[in-house]
Amino acid sequence: MTKIIGLTGGIGSGKTTIANHFQSRGIPVYIADDEARKIMQTAEVIHAIKKTFGETLFDGIVLKRDKLAEIVFNDPEKLQQLNGIVHPAVKRHFKLWLLDHKEFPIVIYEAAILFESGNYKDFDLIITVTAPLESRIQRVIERDKTTREQVLGRINSQWTDEQRVSKSDFVIENIDVEIARRKTDEILKILKIKQNEC
Ligand code: ATP
Repeated sequence: MTKIIGLTGGIGSGKTTIANHFQSRGIPVYIADDEARKIMQTAEVIHAIKKTFGETLFDGIVLKRDKLAEIVFNDPEKLQQLNGIVHPAVKRHFKLWLLDHKEFPIVIYEAAILFESGNYKDFDLIITVTAPLESRIQRVIERDKTTREQVLGRINSQWTDEQRVSKSDFVIENIDVEIARRKTDEILKILKIKQNEC
């Protein structure tokens, strides 16, 4: 049976960088945040968002994502409501993706809020990517051309590295990317051994 490995880490820690490395090693990766973005454009989810947040968040049928992000990242209750709409839809989509990849012994599910969403219980093992807070802030400012305040807002809505690490099976510290990739290869070796033992 396919082993599902959760891959998480705070914003800017380097989850996608590590996910890409797994992919380069032939491991299928489901990037939950990207899939969620696509799923938010489906009629079913648009309808639910309109019902909960109102029509003003839409330009015709196009969701004003920035406005929605601004609302939910400043209001935990609203964030919970949005998650209540999007998470079940992503879960259903992932189940189908998994069926399409059932011949693979290991797959990776990458998500920023694996713990916060309670999703972590669905995985066989969990890997957390960590990086110093200041590096994360600078990476995201550079990548997204955003402000320090906005990045801090996101960081404060997520668990801390310490919280994530305490519940993880493996940790990849991503300071030097080459060292982090080597660590990823080491973990992959262990995962393959564990899988062969089953
Ligand atoms: P998010 O939660 O925002 O999706 P993430 O955890 O997936 O972020 P990445 O997108 O992989 O993080 O990395 C954030 C940015 O930092 C990217 O532009 C990436 O190229 C860069 N980056 C990743 N790792 C390192 C590193 N070790 N040193 C310098 N830059 C890095």
